[in-house]
Amino acid sequence: NAKYAGGNTFRFFTEAMNLSTIERLRLENALRQAIANNELSLHYQPQVELTTAKVLGVEALLRWTHPTLGSVPPSRFIPVAEESGLIVSIGEWVLNEACAQARRWRDEGISGITVAVNLSALQFRRSDIVAKVRSALDRCALPAGMIELELTESLLMHNADDVMRTMHELKAIGVKLSIDDFGTGYSSLAYLKRYPVDRLKIDRSFVNDVANDPDDAAIVRTIVQLGRSMKLDVIAEGVEHPAQLDFLTMEGCHSAQGYLFAKPMPADQVTPLLYGKRDPGGNGAGVANAA
Ligand code: C2E
Ligand code: MG
Ligand code: MG
Ligand code: MG
Repeated sequence: NAKYAGGNTFRFFTEAMNLSTIERLRLENALRQAIANNELSLHYQPQVELTTAKVLGVEALLRWTHPTLGSVPPSRFIPVAEESGLIVSIGEWVLNEACAQARRWRDEGISGITVAVNLSALQFRRSDIVAKVRSALDRCALPAGMIELELTESLLMHNADDVMRTMHELKAIGVKLSIDDFGTGYSSLAYLKRYPVDRLKIDRSFVNDVANDPDDAAIVRTIVQLGRSMKLDVIAEGVEHPAQLDFLTMEGCHSAQGYLFAKPMPADQVTPLLYGKRDPGGNGAGVANAA
């Protein structure tokens, strides 16, 4: 932050800091209007079961299109939203929108899928998160099991008792819980045993080189085996190449997500891929499910 140092000198205020501060403020101010101006939307990326090629669910990923800034990637605006606290209201919007979309899919006869929603640490630590999740489900009359909440590993390392209580309350509602970007945090395996999580998402950074780098291969193999022995589902993210898929399949990884299968897409483009999950009696021909 700029410190006025007397005279006309702003000490510590380099041009780079100046620019990034202005950039940050500009994004923050723009983001403040984003919900009201309908600039936010969700894309959905399919999650595929490896043994059957069925689409088991989708991950909801936030998109922001500003009238003059254009499309701003999450890697730029999520940190700003987190530092400014805006992520709390934005995250609530995401939760409600994801539930509304899950409701629309159910109304179209699609069942048995999960819709995963990313929760930021700040959102999770707010005392009203459990009530917010419950009311989002209630508003859409949605079975809780249709929603999965993705938590980051770093979140689990702090305030262990509070985190544990919140996780148990969320599990009691019936939502599923997963650990996102697994392996990138300060891994203490002790918490895995204690926290009521349903699945681990192997971070893309390990999947990238899994077919060539023996270290990455060992890490992925270890996470898959860990999941198996702790009865947790394991999903690999960022699968782009057939060689990565082959490795994951060979190691018995349960499911995967990545450009090789599908990019994140607007709901209407994802819907045809979900028809394989229709209720018996539904007339959808399974696109990703042509067994
Ligand atoms: P994430 O939760 O780990 O999401 C996966 C990211 O990997 C997404 O980036 C997705 O588009 C990207 N991805 C998926 N498959 C591939 C692939 O095959 N190759 C490559 N190169 N990338 C792939 P995205 O949508 O840009 O989101 C980035 C991060 O922003 C997310 O990482 C998540 O941490 C955060 N984020 C996105 N939406 C939300 C949200 O609604 N709430 C919160 N709190 N965070 C969000
Ligand atoms: Mg995620
Ligand atoms: Mg992830
Ligand atoms: Mg990731």
